Amino acid sequence: MFQFSVLASGSKANCTLVKTENTCFLIDCGLSSRECQRRIRELGIDPAHVQAILLTHEHRDHVFGVPVLSRQLDIPVFANQATARVIPRVNAVETFETGQEFNIGDISIRPFSIPHDAIEPVGFRLSAHGLVYAQATDLGRVTPLVTAAVRGAHALLLESNHDPDMLWSCGYPWELKQRISSQHGHLSNNSSSALLYETAHSDLRHVVLGHISENSNTPALALAEAARASEHISLASLRCANPYQATPLMDIAAESSSSSILRASNGC
Ligand SMILES: [Zn+2]
Ligand SMILES: [Zn+2]
Repeated sequence: MFQFSVLASGSKANCTLVKTENTCFLIDCGLSSRECQRRIRELGIDPAHVQAILLTHEHRDHVFGVPVLSRQLDIPVFANQATARVIPRVNAVETFETGQEFNIGDISIRPFSIPHDAIEPVGFRLSAHGLVYAQATDLGRVTPLVTAAVRGAHALLLESNHDPDMLWSCGYPWELKQRISSQHGHLSNNSSSALLYETAHSDLRHVVLGHISENSNTPALALAEAARASEHISLASLRCANPYQATPLMDIAAESSSSSILRASNGC
């Protein structure tokens, strides 16, 4: 068994839960500790079973709840050294090297470098029981390393942040538009769907689109591009994550035969 739920995703808060029979941890926690634990309980999981929090980078929408949650659950925070130096005080820190595989319980974890305006941002490729989950959000562009890291995954969380036309015509200040669209900003729908098209394969089950902008994108636009990019394969689910509600707990080994595109779930 290898499952995941995106508890929150977007510019307000990001948090993902992954679990096997005996291992359970979070990636990031931009939610408050209380809200994070509420969403975990809603999935039928006792927050006391969470064993660690892994960090992708130090931005507030990824670390806001980490200090309190790590203390309340008495669990360590895993981060690379550069990120560990700049996060607020947490319960205990375990450092990893970007690019070096390590294990928590029966999940092996490979952090990989992503281009983003943080100190040493990473995505994660996780493997358990021959199944692979990969996530790449908060990246300005897709590098060959990112493509290699998500290739062959059975479940993906991919950033689909903005529609370029909507971004340039929205009310953001010029500097923010430049930051978002830069090589170290956030991934557009078309870059995200190009990555999906390039790496889609017949054993890919679940695709979640994340970090969707509420001002320069719509879930419908993001989904339409991703659906086009994956129309040659049969996914079990394609959905958007949002900051307000967790996705269902998805079984990475689920059969893809009951293919359905969940256009309207979670308010997307
Ligand atoms: Zn973010
Ligand atoms: Zn960020």
